[in-house]
Amino acid sequence: MLQVGDKIGIVGGGQLGRMLAISAGRLGFKTVILDPQPNAPAFEFSHQHIVAAYDDAKALQKLASMTKVITYEFENVPVTAFDNLSDAVDVHPNTKALATSQDRVTEKSFFNNLGINTAPWFDIILPQMLDGALKESGGKGILKTRRFGYDGKGQCRVDINKPETVMEAKKLSQETPCILEGFIDFTREISIIAARSVDGIIETYDIAENIHRDGILHTSTVPANINENTTNEAISIAQKTLSELDYVGVMGIEFFVNPDGSLLVNEFAPRVHNSGHWTEAACAVSQFEQHIRAVAGVPLAKTSRHSDCVMENLIGDDMKNVPEILSHSDTMLHLYGKSETRAGRKMGHFTKITQKTI
Ligand code: AMP
Repeated sequence: MLQVGDKIGIVGGGQLGRMLAISAGRLGFKTVILDPQPNAPAFEFSHQHIVAAYDDAKALQKLASMTKVITYEFENVPVTAFDNLSDAVDVHPNTKALATSQDRVTEKSFFNNLGINTAPWFDIILPQMLDGALKESGGKGILKTRRFGYDGKGQCRVDINKPETVMEAKKLSQETPCILEGFIDFTREISIIAARSVDGIIETYDIAENIHRDGILHTSTVPANINENTTNEAISIAQKTLSELDYVGVMGIEFFVNPDGSLLVNEFAPRVHNSGHWTEAACAVSQFEQHIRAVAGVPLAKTSRHSDCVMENLIGDDMKNVPEILSHSDTMLHLYGKSETRAGRKMGHFTKITQKTI
């Protein structure tokens, strides 16, 4: 168990690293953050920082020598970079979780082997495999790169009746290994934020209902409009997933809800998740503090929620709405301190309390 004043290393200095650093500071821990950008948003709230590439072995060694435990804010850190560190310092979540989430084939196989359903998927090793897979998927699907996809990047929709989409997909599958996922006519998308402690205790937050725009999360509404069976299935999948991976920390799992209420896992993130940002406004302890508690080996907090709420992301130009958002006394604003506003860039979020529940 870490003591007040101990240091936590965070790989990645974006908004998630920043929110983790703020929570760590509130619990009396110090943070050292590694990021290649000299003006990374999280540096403003860290005690020390290292400007270096995520896979810079020397810099990671230095981070390990300065800290008691290392965690990360994004899943595309090379696994080998952390494997070499595991002797020197604890890395949470572990590299098994990291490796599983980095490759869509490994990730989907992991869920399917546990008896957890996903969209039907086909490993597209060669571009000429696309036509057969597309036919088996009923003519419609989404081609996704196996690795490095996020916020809808590295994917394209394919429709057998629209030759230009098939051409585009073939081009992408020529450039990099991909999977084809059957197109799911879901009724809604939901996610669960779950945490597991070093001694195996699991806590889950209430489920959020998510709306995406252009592949990027737009809003998370809590509670989600789902029935008890769906809720229980999501909790049970989270418990299985975290236990199987011997996971320590917070994880976000995203699902498609079928018309009959059953679930398909879309993907998981071995870190705090955008669809859990609402927890800072509607729960006593946010996902960020919960993650810090887990990796520091201190007891997890209860996850009960005191309000219904809607979290909305501020993307690019949405920053112009900040004065209006500030005029609502029931709304919590959180900006990420990014100096440059760019189209598609996450600049902040706000959570509107819609109703008190206790
Ligand atoms: P992803 O980056 O895989 O989370 O995909 C981004 C968004 O694209 C998801 O949140 C869905 O809205 C949509 N999407 C992804 N995969 C599928 C699928 N197999 N069928 C239908 N929509 C999908």
